[in-house]
Amino acid sequence: MFRSAVNKLTAWYVAALLVIILVYSVPMYRIASDRLDRTSRRQGDILVQKQVIFLGPSPDDIRGLRQAVVADEKSDLLRQIALIDVILLVLGTTASYYFAKKTLHPIEEAHIAQTRFTADASHQLRTPLATMQSEIEVAMRNSKSTKSELESTLSSNLEEIARLNRLSTQLLLLTKIDNNSLSGSEFSWSKTISKKILNTESRYNMKISSNIKANISVRGEESLLSEVVTILLENAVKYADKKHPKIEVSLSKASKKNVLIISDNGPGIDLKDLPKIFDRFYRGKQTIENSSGNGLGLALAKEITEKHGGHISVNTKVGKGSSFSLTLPQK
Ligand code: ADP
Repeated sequence: MFRSAVNKLTAWYVAALLVIILVYSVPMYRIASDRLDRTSRRQGDILVQKQVIFLGPSPDDIRGLRQAVVADEKSDLLRQIALIDVILLVLGTTASYYFAKKTLHPIEEAHIAQTRFTADASHQLRTPLATMQSEIEVAMRNSKSTKSELESTLSSNLEEIARLNRLSTQLLLLTKIDNNSLSGSEFSWSKTISKKILNTESRYNMKISSNIKANISVRGEESLLSEVVTILLENAVKYADKKHPKIEVSLSKASKKNVLIISDNGPGIDLKDLPKIFDRFYRGKQTIENSSGNGLGLALAKEITEKHGGHISVNTKVGKGSSFSLTLPQK
């Protein structure tokens, strides 16, 4: 598809070039051949006036000779213009192909990214659906299923539905930030973070140690920025040590910016995974086997943060834990 688009665009460039060459060459030839006619006529008149004709050929011979020379000159002129036109056309076609490719390259990249994104998203949708389908089929086939077996099937189905819900929310958010420039207003960043910490503590029945500087405000879309906090907190909960989870959150002010740090005592991030963890749908090699997820969280967090003029980074030590820093400009 991309190749045919390049060829079509090249053809349009060449057609435009051809029109320009013709518009330029035809009048050029006309003007130059008129000049030749006029010069040759004037030269003939001068010869007659100076009576050179008495010494040489008759006026008719001179006219004939003159016309033959002019015809020669004109065909030379035509050949030269045609040659220049062909050279221009060849160079133009090569340049057109190059520029067509260059023009369409970003579109090709966007198309490839879009195709990859659709394939990844479909894969992420299919996995929970397939799990739910097989669990329901097994439960239906077994007519002697006990109440507790059915309850366990339903609760597993609910988990898959929650995963699907999370995935569709994140996909919608990605589309939203891809297509819109964000507006938003000023809001209390300190309060948003404190609220999220309380929610996480009660949801997972755990304690998070926090040090949140009060009265820090930021400008942006609160729903999106609080989604970033949710992603980082949920990752911290998910990856923290299972037996003795330790999660710390701090919000502080530095020069012209504020820094949110969320740390955990999880397994840390492998060096091989580190450059890719902010890519869409990327999941760490170890993580895939040990925990559920769709690999969209950090990509979304990064894109939302950058749309707000901020920056997200990670500090990690394998076996010790990870610490994510989110920096936003002061409002
Ligand atoms: P998900 O958690 O659904 O896999 P994310 O985009 O949130 O997707 O994270 C991408 C990858 O980054 C994870 O698969 C995991 O390997 C790694 N990662 C993210 N947060 C942490 C963390 N706190 N500790 C260890 N690894 C992490």
